[in-house]
Amino acid sequence: MSDAAPRVVLVTGGSRGIGLAVARRFQDLGDHVAVTYNSSPPPDGIFGVRCDVTDMAQVDAAFAAVEAEFGSAVEVLVSNAGITRDGLLLRMGEDDFTSVIDANLTAAFRVTKRAAQGMLRARRGRVILVSSVVGLLGAGGQANYAASKAGLVGFARSLARELGSRSITVNVVAPGPVETDMTAALGDKRIGEIINAVPLGRMATADEIAGVIAFLASADAAYITGAVIPVDGGLGMGH
Ligand code: NAP
Repeated sequence: MSDAAPRVVLVTGGSRGIGLAVARRFQDLGDHVAVTYNSSPPPDGIFGVRCDVTDMAQVDAAFAAVEAEFGSAVEVLVSNAGITRDGLLLRMGEDDFTSVIDANLTAAFRVTKRAAQGMLRARRGRVILVSSVVGLLGAGGQANYAASKAGLVGFARSLARELGSRSITVNVVAPGPVETDMTAALGDKRIGEIINAVPLGRMATADEIAGVIAFLASADAAYITGAVIPVDGGLGMGH
């Protein structure tokens, strides 16, 4: 528990995986935490709002529900919800491409735009966007996903410039492989190949990503904005 007043924290896609670990981390710090989910609600004890982040009306309603629950605007936004639809270029349909961009990149625009209203009024705020090492290195079979995750970097850096004068920071976290449902779906063979490429020789736990996100929302990170923080076991070597 920190000494600071509780902040209202919203984590998109916080029902499982990295988002759930982030939600729990902020709860441990004593913050007021809400998560959005699409199909699977969060465990008991976490305030969850059903919200498909590809729909602006649902995003707007989710923020209104969070504001009503906690009585103030979102001060820390973690845009984490994301999907994959892997495939080689010639087999990738246009819908595979646009749906991943919509859920991973345009959704970040939707939630950040909505959160910025309250942050601008309060003259403070933290926005943390969950990208991926793949956004900076690329990965065969993931052109759609890599494009969406690379797009978050330009988006964050533009907003860091636009919102910095109001003490709003905007940063990107770029995880390497993390033990969640998303990587479990890849199968043991592919997971083994990925781990072989990671200098630390293992996947991250979701909690290791959550710790860095909590740091970016902390007072110690007040002078960090427009940064891309790799949490990838050395896979991207600083990219
Ligand atoms: P996950 O276990 O597959 O969980 C994804 C979360 O996103 C779920 O809470 C899901 O909600 C939510 N979600 C997906 N589409 C949504 C939509 N349209 N509207 C609202 N919520 C939606 O994923 P994860 O591994 O924790 O990944 C979280 C983030 O980290 C993603 O952005 C991912 O790209 C990124 N990342 C993951 C890894 C990794 O190795 N796992 C590595 C680098 C980056 P439901 O449960 O309701 O479906």
